[in-house]
Amino acid sequence: MSGCPSSPGAVTDSCAPVSGDVLAQEEEPQGFGDLSELPVEVSERRPTCSRCCRPAKVCLCPFLPPEPLDVSTCLYIVQHPAEESRVLRTVPLLAACLPKGKCNVLIGRRFSEERHAELAAVCRDAHTLVLYPGSDAVNLEDMDVDFATTPHNVVIIDGTWSQAKDMFLRNTLLHLPKQVQLNSAPSSQYVIRTQPTNMCLSTLECAAVTLSIMEKNQAIQEVLLRPLRALCSFQLQHGAQVHHSKEHLLKSGLYDKPLPKNKRKIKRMQKLITNQDV
Ligand SMILES: [Zn+2]
Repeated sequence: MSGCPSSPGAVTDSCAPVSGDVLAQEEEPQGFGDLSELPVEVSERRPTCSRCCRPAKVCLCPFLPPEPLDVSTCLYIVQHPAEESRVLRTVPLLAACLPKGKCNVLIGRRFSEERHAELAAVCRDAHTLVLYPGSDAVNLEDMDVDFATTPHNVVIIDGTWSQAKDMFLRNTLLHLPKQVQLNSAPSSQYVIRTQPTNMCLSTLECAAVTLSIMEKNQAIQEVLLRPLRALCSFQLQHGAQVHHSKEHLLKSGLYDKPLPKNKRKIKRMQKLITNQDV
């Protein structure tokens, strides 16, 4: 990742190994043709675009804004280590659209006061929000704050649904800022990766909605979602399949995986069908 604009302040948590198990969760998308036949060492060395961090052959820079977006909000993405190794990542695209220093990525599972002094200071700042839905969260749209005159920081957790939940619950630092959620978020456009519910957005989509609300500029959302749409349409053209959310599959009776034996999991899936909070 060196030289990659996605992680100007990236701190790698060496105590958090990425197991082969975790790596195996994300399937290599179909459709890279002959590239998929090559030995791993060779394909890993394929040239990478230094701006969007995508393989040069599938560079998404034409879909990025010519200049970084002028925003006053500063994002801190706390990223689960497994996210960094995913084939389809949305955070580098986000970072490539924003000015240096406005999208800080910190990688790890556990964040402590001692080892993550910068994040600790940000979390203690009264002008910091943490984006994580829940009964304690207020709707960002309803906040009576002029974010233009008092710039804020927003902490966003980047990981799968369960990884994000685990990271939020186990990192007390993340409980310090005011907790906010998105009330009017659109349905996810990130169709390549299965989302647990239709309302579950990729990190890029969350950031796009958050920034458009805080900067009072709807155009920001459009600009940030453009490379994501291009990424999805490129993957679909090259053989990737549309992944409907588990919610969609369950409701339409298309869910073809064996139902879990664990009663709590079954209950959670039933809740998904009936749209109750999970
Ligand atoms: Zn590029």
